[in-house]
Amino acid sequence: MRSITHFIGGETSPGGHRKGQIFAPTIGEVQAEVQLGDTSVLARAVDSAKAAQPAWAAMNPQRRARVMFNYKALLEKHMDELAELLASEHGKVVADARGDIQRGLDVVEFACGVPHLMKGEYTEGAGPGIDVYSLRQPLGVCAGITPFNFPAMIPLWMLAPAIACGNAFILKPSERDPSVPVRLAELLIEAGLPAGVLNVVHGDKEVVDAILDHPDIKAVSFVGSSDIAQYVYGRGAAAGKRMQCMGGAKNHGIVMPDADMDQAVADILGAAYGSAGERCMALPVVVPVGDATAEALRDKLVTEIEKLRVGVSTDPEAHYGPVVSAQHKARIEDYIRMAAEEGSEIVIDGRGFALQGYEDGYFLAPTLIDHVKPDMKSYQDEIFGPVLQILRAATFDEALSYPTRHQYGNGVALFTRNGDFAREFAQKVEVGMVGINVPIPVPVSYYSFGGWKRSGFGDLNQYGMDGIRFYTRTKTVTQRWPSGGAVLDQSFVIPTMR
Ligand code: NAD
Repeated sequence: MRSITHFIGGETSPGGHRKGQIFAPTIGEVQAEVQLGDTSVLARAVDSAKAAQPAWAAMNPQRRARVMFNYKALLEKHMDELAELLASEHGKVVADARGDIQRGLDVVEFACGVPHLMKGEYTEGAGPGIDVYSLRQPLGVCAGITPFNFPAMIPLWMLAPAIACGNAFILKPSERDPSVPVRLAELLIEAGLPAGVLNVVHGDKEVVDAILDHPDIKAVSFVGSSDIAQYVYGRGAAAGKRMQCMGGAKNHGIVMPDADMDQAVADILGAAYGSAGERCMALPVVVPVGDATAEALRDKLVTEIEKLRVGVSTDPEAHYGPVVSAQHKARIEDYIRMAAEEGSEIVIDGRGFALQGYEDGYFLAPTLIDHVKPDMKSYQDEIFGPVLQILRAATFDEALSYPTRHQYGNGVALFTRNGDFAREFAQKVEVGMVGINVPIPVPVSYYSFGGWKRSGFGDLNQYGMDGIRFYTRTKTVTQRWPSGGAVLDQSFVIPTMR
């Protein structure tokens, strides 16, 4: 059986006494195993990173950028291979897997601009003979802990800016689909990155805790579910590390009476069911405003959902594939049962679906649930499956209150033709990423990605300028040269520039 091992010092590097199983979600069978690291494997990775980092940081930024340019070209060249490998472990359809890689590639492209992005500031003559300038310097060794649902994009969100800025990086990918992260590391070495600057350590809580406790890791970026994000944030921050931890989500799509209904339904279907709903920017709740909007929306959704095709990852006609594991499938089914018990109406029930020839795969047909109420647990929790809930609102203000009051605040979308509503909505809603007639408002690579409330712990978001800020620290130099003016008297008062 294929065995996936750690990648340390530029080569595969076995270690750890436990193993995890990698499933093929399409057929429901184990296809590989992954070594789960421990404290000693992590310590080896940190040693390798520490040894490689100073020379990498000392290389001029243009040369570091050149490695990123090579990397971008290699990722493009290997796109098909990576997409197929990704789909085989995650279950998403290959076209969607390409999007996963492309969104990460966009951040590599952004990181190619690092000579400009890392520039400091300079003020001549801030005082008599005094100039002030600021520098952005790398932190040293940084680490990233990533979820199963974007095994290319999220590692690349982190490692591209971290490494371009001159840090060494340790990636702890999800133990459920770890093969693509290893290929990402191999390709970066092929692009010219010195061995040891990027290391991949596989594992679960044991390695995560070792990362959080290791004194030589200066910053940790985490993406995953909210309870774990909060735990990782607290433990890492208590150890004095810089932390950014993105959590779960429950994104709402508000549909106003004046919305372009055909377009809104097309957008909602893709955002709710694409990748089997396993996206933190999925749209699992729609909020139609007014009874007429709700009825029209529901009718159209029912008609269009019947046309959706659930299939294997390699089926080019499939809209989405299986969910990631048998446990996750059972958890989603439990939530559908809970929604019924709580009194909402299961309009279309996706449970009990079997794909012919793939009866053991982790497939679920689309589920549509109406008459959801805000006090229901099935609404308050993230389900993370192909389940769309309809929460009806009487007015715009009521609709606006739902995403604003929800525990999660990752993404939200408003479908309307009215600029006044759109402006007020964008201004008032307590959510980090807002789409106006855009169902999945993941910011482009030169903005930053991050949710509010329990969707994000920490101050700085992923990628964009926040990514550069997260992976660098600012040093400010105030300098005076003897030739810059007369000898100054001794002074015991705080210096001012007056
Ligand atoms: P997860 O929280 O189970 O795992 C994320 C990472 O944490 C993995 O690397 C895992 O090994 C590690 N981990 C798991 N349990 C741990 C523990 N007890 N202690 C320490 N580390 C632990 O998340 P997942 O199921 O892989 O991914 C899905 C979740 O991620 C969803 O909640 C989704 O919304 C969220 N997500 C958020 C974003 C975002 O940017 N906000 C993006 C993608 C996914």
